[in-house]
Amino acid sequence: MSNQSTLQAAPLGVRPVRAFADNYIWLIEAPGQPGSVVAVDPGEAGPVETELDRSGSRLAAILLTHHHPDHIGGVLRLLQRGRVPVIGPDDDRIAVRTRTVRDRERCELPELGLAFDILGVPGHTLSHIAFWGHGALFCGDTLFSAGCGRMFEGTPVQMHASLSRLKSLPPDTAVYCGHEYTAANLKFALAVEPENRDALDYQTRVRALREADAPTLPSLIGLERRVNPFLRCDVPVVRAAASARAGHPVEEAAEVFGVIRAWKDQFR
Ligand SMILES: [Zn+2]
Repeated sequence: MSNQSTLQAAPLGVRPVRAFADNYIWLIEAPGQPGSVVAVDPGEAGPVETELDRSGSRLAAILLTHHHPDHIGGVLRLLQRGRVPVIGPDDDRIAVRTRTVRDRERCELPELGLAFDILGVPGHTLSHIAFWGHGALFCGDTLFSAGCGRMFEGTPVQMHASLSRLKSLPPDTAVYCGHEYTAANLKFALAVEPENRDALDYQTRVRALREADAPTLPSLIGLERRVNPFLRCDVPVVRAAASARAGHPVEEAAEVFGVIRAWKDQFR
């Protein structure tokens, strides 16, 4: 198994494919099969097809984090290029999937030299999952850089628990989110914590990246712990901001989360 562990230790090659206004479809280069890639959340086929043709890559599998059309809408057309496994959560709204993975399972793609741990992360949707492996996290619309997804189906307690799980991953984990929302998220993060030095420094770097039209992703779990208010519900400054917003003392971290998530929904 020495070959296997060498593959596991190598950093993952991942490229962004832009889709719609601000989605990223991530293409993972298969360490065990050079020239093959795995697409994460292909909401649109066209941009993926263009990148496959440009790079001469072969699509070998598709990973899906949740059922929203901007994450799964391109799957059927991509399958016309050849059948590949479509791996996603247990949800009837994802009729295109060929393999179901669940919380705490391991998703192995041995021929590609890839393996991911599945994390059930309900909140944005109830069946949302994240793929974690090779030092990388593909978390769809659950965790964004300096922010998090809207709670369309889950409760604050569920979403806070999901984010707490992601927060506990190793700090050097690369975070591949589904959208380029970092700049707007940081504006809100600084409304919650105006004095957060790390968030201010990050805002400077993010502005430079966006001016160069470059992605701000992947982020790192260690950075998110320092700048993302939704991962900082146990920090006194964030708790105080939530209490001020609510107009009464808010103590529990999940409750703090609920207040700042609702605040973000109204924030312009
Ligand atoms: Zn979504």
